[in-house]
Amino acid sequence: MQDIVDRILTRPSIEQAQMAGSAVRGAFHRHPKETLASLASWSAHPSAHVRIASGVAYGVVGQRNRDVLAEILPFVERLANDTDRQVRRAGAETALEQLWLAHSDALWVIAEDWLRNKNDRIREVVVRALSRIATSGKIVRPSLLRRFVERVLDLYDELAAKASPEVTVALATAIDAVGCLAPDLVVPRVLEWAHREDDGSLDLVLEIARTPFGPLCEGLDVHEAGVRLAELRRTEESAAAERASSGESRCEYVQIVSQTFLVRQISTHMPWDWIADPYRGCQLRCEFCNARTSTEWSGDAQTGFSRRVTCVQNAGSLLQNELRGSSFEPRTENVIGIGVTSDPYQPAEERLQITRELLKACL
Ligand code: SF4
Repeated sequence: MQDIVDRILTRPSIEQAQMAGSAVRGAFHRHPKETLASLASWSAHPSAHVRIASGVAYGVVGQRNRDVLAEILPFVERLANDTDRQVRRAGAETALEQLWLAHSDALWVIAEDWLRNKNDRIREVVVRALSRIATSGKIVRPSLLRRFVERVLDLYDELAAKASPEVTVALATAIDAVGCLAPDLVVPRVLEWAHREDDGSLDLVLEIARTPFGPLCEGLDVHEAGVRLAELRRTEESAAAERASSGESRCEYVQIVSQTFLVRQISTHMPWDWIADPYRGCQLRCEFCNARTSTEWSGDAQTGFSRRVTCVQNAGSLLQNELRGSSFEPRTENVIGIGVTSDPYQPAEERLQITRELLKACL
């Protein structure tokens, strides 16, 4: 295997890397374990061309050996997340394309998982790999190809509203490619996105309009989509400006869904029996605040107290359930302290209304 690496390093080019990756097949048949170990180190090699070769090789060895899929996919994922675009395209996309053609059932699961749960670099690779598979000519039966395009469109549809600019461009390029294969499936989808009320879908539509497939989308009103996108952006900008003027933009509000809410007050020196904290952390930054010390025991840095506020999104419904539960016996001396460790009326309360829901639950 070292001689293959030496060859790549002597004449580094994508073609050389692709040839080297394909040449690994023989070594894998003779020494599968050692070959996989070498490929693992190739996938982290300082030379991008060696990393590309590892992607091609993973596609080659995985194609005929389903039992190595679980072992090699984490390395393909590493290549899909590579900072070098050529590695992502010539390495990871090639591997995914080859693996999909041999094990489509397993690769659909991977594609769905990566599109939903991984970062934008990996999403872009999956979007591009799926369109490569569709246009590769390897899905010969028209009915299978149509089913493939339908499934791909469903996945693209999930991404449309929340795609980053890079993923939006990749999606538009992919739609351009698959649109020419099945315009009767793709055009209605583009028209549906054009009527949505989110800037991600409208952005995608405008990007598609710039591709050769755009003019083929009969009934697509690009001007109207552009006007609606501009209106949406104006509304978002004024909301952001409002948040900035209230100081909210300097602070990140993290909304969580909790399993439990009320905490028993252990100290007998406090005038309440239960603690109900809708927020942890506080944007208001009072100089004299002694609540910052609460971040010490929760493991946060003290500066994080005013920069990152955790909000219990479902606090109202939790409190309602817990007040009805067996651990909370309705007795007159039960006193609930709301906002004991952080202020319950921070600027974001106007928008989130969590404390308001708590008070309603107490009525
Ligand atoms: S928790 Fe209270 S004292 Fe501390 S910064 Fe917020 S409002 Fe001020």
